[in-house]
Amino acid sequence: METKIAHYYLIVDLEATCCDNKTIPRHEMEIIEIGAVMLNRTTWVIDSEFQQFIQPVRHPQLTGFCTELTSIRQQDVDKAPKFLEVISRFKEWIDLFPNYIFCSWGNYDKKQFIQDCAFHNFPYPFTSKHINIKEEFSEYLGVSKKFGMAQALDQLGIELKGTHHRGIDDARNIASIYRQIKNKNQTK
Ligand code: AMP
Ligand code: MG
Repeated sequence: METKIAHYYLIVDLEATCCDNKTIPRHEMEIIEIGAVMLNRTTWVIDSEFQQFIQPVRHPQLTGFCTELTSIRQQDVDKAPKFLEVISRFKEWIDLFPNYIFCSWGNYDKKQFIQDCAFHNFPYPFTSKHINIKEEFSEYLGVSKKFGMAQALDQLGIELKGTHHRGIDDARNIASIYRQIKNKNQTK
């Protein structure tokens, strides 16, 4: 039987260690959650999801600010595998889907992948170009102003589902934005 090759938008949203007082400089932030969805470019349905917490090693104690922002608790990361194990699993999952394009809200997620992969000596996992959906959203509105994800949902009249600043929920919400700006709300 001939296999029909599906094409996907791989929408990724990362959460990372952070602070509000410069104790964790940008170059020492580490991914603590990978949330990702495979949005089918034909049906515009999410066909598969990946969610995994990661135990950080450079600043293993989450700040109160970080837990407040992301709702990710110390015990979530303490019992999670470390980066190399998770990125290997993530890569295996990505490789199940041919012809994806890596997308995220802004360029932060791409930069954070580059930073963590370099620190842990793991090859950058994506083989595709990167689509910045935040930029596409501004182009869709015909404005230069850049919007946060929650603001964009608001502009489109889409309800924010789940918890903002949780990787998997952000990835799902970004998929809803992308579906809407591509005019694909009706599945074929
Ligand atoms: P987001 O995808 O918007 O949830 O943000 C991804 C990551 O960026 C968060 O997990 C934080 O590490 C960092 N971040 C987001 N917003 C802030 C903020 N207001 N202050 C400090 N770090 C932030
Ligand atoms: Mg997020």
